[in-house]
Amino acid sequence: MIDTQDASPTSPSPSPASAPGRRLPTLRSQLSLWVGGLSLAVLTLVGGYLGKLATDELFTAQQAAVRATAQAAAELLATQLRDRERQIELLSVAPHLVNGRLDSQEVRDSLDRRQALHDEFAWLGVVAPDGTVLQATGGMLTGRSVAQRDWFIAARERVFVGDVHEAKLLATMLPALPNGEPTRFIDFAAPIRDSDGRLLGVVGAHAHWRWVTGLVDGVVRRQLPGSGIDALILDRQGRLLYPEALKAAQASGAAVLPKPENGRFDGELVFDGKPYLASEATLQLRTNAELGWRIVARQPMEQAMRPVSALRRELVLLGVLAATALALTALLLARRFSRPVEQLARIAARVETERRVPDFPEQPGVRELDGLSRAMQSMARSLLQTEKDLQAANATLETQVQQRTAELQAANAKLEHLATRDPLTGLHNRRSLDARLAEAQALDRRYGRQNGRVHGLLLVDVDHFKRINDSFGHPTGDAVLRQLAELLQSCVRVTDVAARFGGEEFAVLLPELAGPLEAVMAAEKIRTAVEAATFPQVGKITVSVGVSLASPDDLELAPLIARSDAALYVAKRGGRNAVVLKEAGAA
Ligand code: GH3
Ligand code: MG
Ligand code: MG
Repeated sequence: MIDTQDASPTSPSPSPASAPGRRLPTLRSQLSLWVGGLSLAVLTLVGGYLGKLATDELFTAQQAAVRATAQAAAELLATQLRDRERQIELLSVAPHLVNGRLDSQEVRDSLDRRQALHDEFAWLGVVAPDGTVLQATGGMLTGRSVAQRDWFIAARERVFVGDVHEAKLLATMLPALPNGEPTRFIDFAAPIRDSDGRLLGVVGAHAHWRWVTGLVDGVVRRQLPGSGIDALILDRQGRLLYPEALKAAQASGAAVLPKPENGRFDGELVFDGKPYLASEATLQLRTNAELGWRIVARQPMEQAMRPVSALRRELVLLGVLAATALALTALLLARRFSRPVEQLARIAARVETERRVPDFPEQPGVRELDGLSRAMQSMARSLLQTEKDLQAANATLETQVQQRTAELQAANAKLEHLATRDPLTGLHNRRSLDARLAEAQALDRRYGRQNGRVHGLLLVDVDHFKRINDSFGHPTGDAVLRQLAELLQSCVRVTDVAARFGGEEFAVLLPELAGPLEAVMAAEKIRTAVEAATFPQVGKITVSVGVSLASPDDLELAPLIARSDAALYVAKRGGRNAVVLKEAGAA
């Protein structure tokens, strides 16, 4: 059963066992710190490692995409150039050229048809061996000489594909380009020979440079739309052929092209002050026309890194979320594990304050905690039981001590009685009398001289007691002595001390007497009481009393006793049943 009072507080009360003045860190905070810290460390390490792997992978993929773009553009361009070269070569061996007249209308029609099919051709023409244009598309340049043109000179010997150049003769005949750039061509040309190998003429074609750049741009656009990738065309010497805008910038003196260390445009390079991810591919042409163009595909670094940055952002966000979840889990875990311990500590503290064993909650979640709870409960029970037993034992012991003390006191009292009383009569014995006499003497010495009071001593002796013994037996004598003692006791004041002086002789100490008369009266009272009393079997008896008062000159007890004894002796001699006073100093 869980006590609601225990379950509600969240902050643990300080442990009763913790040292005062030094607050130890709580289990909960330490657990939170360790679990949270470790999780965060693992998360950071694993996340960082995976993040690095993923971003590296992405970057590599991006690089591959740029490379593939350059490669695709180069391959397509190479294929297209080869195709156009082959077309011109096939045209040069066409029967209507080889066997017919080169200036015939048929030739002109075939050239026009071909141009209509392939609008990349700005001009197609047939040239006589001397360089005179015999037939051409649209009749352009017909009759004019191209004897000085590279393509014509080269094509007299072999199939020719020429590098890009600006239009010369045709520049004025063709419509101007919309962006105002000059009309540029690449040339295809092939010799026309008869079956004997004699040169009949040359067939030539000018393909628009725009067609070339359009092919490249088309590939780049199709490859990865929206990736920001564009393509540059460089010639064999590394001069920029395309794009036009960059060329213009270069012409105005800007260093638009980087100078890669190994001469290849690959990896991170800076074009015109902007970082790019670049890759190049060389055009592979199988023909004798070794253009040696290079296609450089490039992507602004910022755009290349965009997916990487996005991934990083996502990773960071994910990391923050995971860290939050981990921190919460750590807190919950810490609570889960520390709460039962805090609860046990509070309950254990209650044992001390309440002096009873409260219900220790079951801890079904954790076996060790459950065991601890049970162990603490049984320990508290046994401790309290031991305490109770000790208290009970203590109480018993106290009662016993009290009882023993009482018994001891009684025994002491009995002992004292035995030591100070006469066994036959119960009166003070001689020793006790001596002690009282000494006390009285001391008191007199101390006070007596001031108030004039002194103590006196009566010695009372039974007259002819021997006869009683002789006549009635010793036991009757004893009985007489006991009755006489009672009588004596009843005659004196409580402050007086009646004692058996020895045999059938008694003594009475009279303290604080105003004078001898008082002592004599006390003695007379005793004498008359005895005389008046009747003793069983015996009948009447009498006593003689010797009286004397203490004197300041008495240094010890003996003189007082001696004076009373002397007085008693006088009373006996005088006939008995009498009281005689002997003053101190009297002879
Ligand atoms: P007097 O008048 O001169 O005193 O004569 P008396 O006989 O009393 O004196 P005495 O001293 O000759 O005798 C005292 C007797 O008292 C002797 C003794 O046997 C007796 N006696 C002393 N102590 C006891 C006692 O404890 N019990 C009894 N029964 N007799 C005692
Ligand atoms: Mg006698
Ligand atoms: Mg006697």
